[in-house]
Amino acid sequence: MSGVLIAIIGWVSRQRLSLAGELGVGIKKREFVVHYQPIIELSTGRCVGAEALLRWPRPDGSWVRPDLFIPVAEQHNLIAQITDIMIDRVIDDTQQLLSGDAGMHIAINISSSDIESGRFLPVLEEKLSLSNVRPQQIWLEATERGFMNADAARRTIRAAREAGHQIAIDDFGTGYSSLSLLETLPLNVLKIDRSFVNAIGHDAALSVVTPHIIAMAHGLGLSIVAEGVETKEQEDYLRGAGVQYAQGWHYAKALPVKEFVEFYMGCNAGCDAAEPRETGKPAGAGCRLSFEASSPA
Ligand code: C2E
Ligand code: CA
Ligand code: CA
Repeated sequence: MSGVLIAIIGWVSRQRLSLAGELGVGIKKREFVVHYQPIIELSTGRCVGAEALLRWPRPDGSWVRPDLFIPVAEQHNLIAQITDIMIDRVIDDTQQLLSGDAGMHIAINISSSDIESGRFLPVLEEKLSLSNVRPQQIWLEATERGFMNADAARRTIRAAREAGHQIAIDDFGTGYSSLSLLETLPLNVLKIDRSFVNAIGHDAALSVVTPHIIAMAHGLGLSIVAEGVETKEQEDYLRGAGVQYAQGWHYAKALPVKEFVEFYMGCNAGCDAAEPRETGKPAGAGCRLSFEASSPA
């Protein structure tokens, strides 16, 4: 190995170690905030939920991206504490909204080690018992990595379903889940990865896969959320293919809670919350407004 390569490897591992140290301090100080990215029902245009995405603002005013610090947290056994902070923040932020609209949900990302251990479930149930939020309103997103220990994943997912939660498989198509494994897991929702949505109308190789993913989800009886929807063309394609829900910059980036509540109210203005969603009643104009988070999405 060349000297330059060794120096680069040494530099990268020092950076990761120092990030892990800072992460430990950030956890103690509970420096994290949660942003909420709206999830839109394609048949009505209503905002029916949001994905909770963690944000780490630093004292110097910068923000660390979750795809940088989440893997470091996973490697250094810090992820469980982050999941607990996330659960706490999500219920505190959204309980008023969720208790006023039983059809609304918030999806929380659960790391593979948490899916394997199931450790977060009693933490979530305890927090929910102190609020008016129904377990059905908290969806749990797990990636295919979380299913590597299939027996452990099955136990946790069953327990989460029994507690009333909906379970989504995240980033679908980017891992190695076999169809036979998916058939044996009690899942509710499949999230089509952004790369497949992005390919619609562009990348011939990837876009031929997208209809197969949709057909497979239908075959398994799963609802579908398409991630990373950025254009009307993608939205039209997905609606036509029978995808129920969409999430992406076409509607809004991940927003601080106050802006998310404003988006939700603008989007659903004019819709009677008590009315069944299947009526196809058009949504308020808010969904087509472009919302930008005041800090990184
Ligand atoms: P993810 O679960 O796949 O989340 C979706 C990511 O796509 C988010 O990135 C979101 O901001 C981004 N996104 C959404 N719509 C669009 C779009 O239209 N175009 C583009 N280009 N991007 C879009 P974000 O927030 O940076 O999160 C990155 C990843 O970090 C997440 O990917 C998730 O794996 C992880 N993550 C975030 N919060 C948590 C958490 O609380 N716990 C765990 N375990 N992981 C988390
Ligand atoms: Ca996710
Ligand atoms: Ca995803």
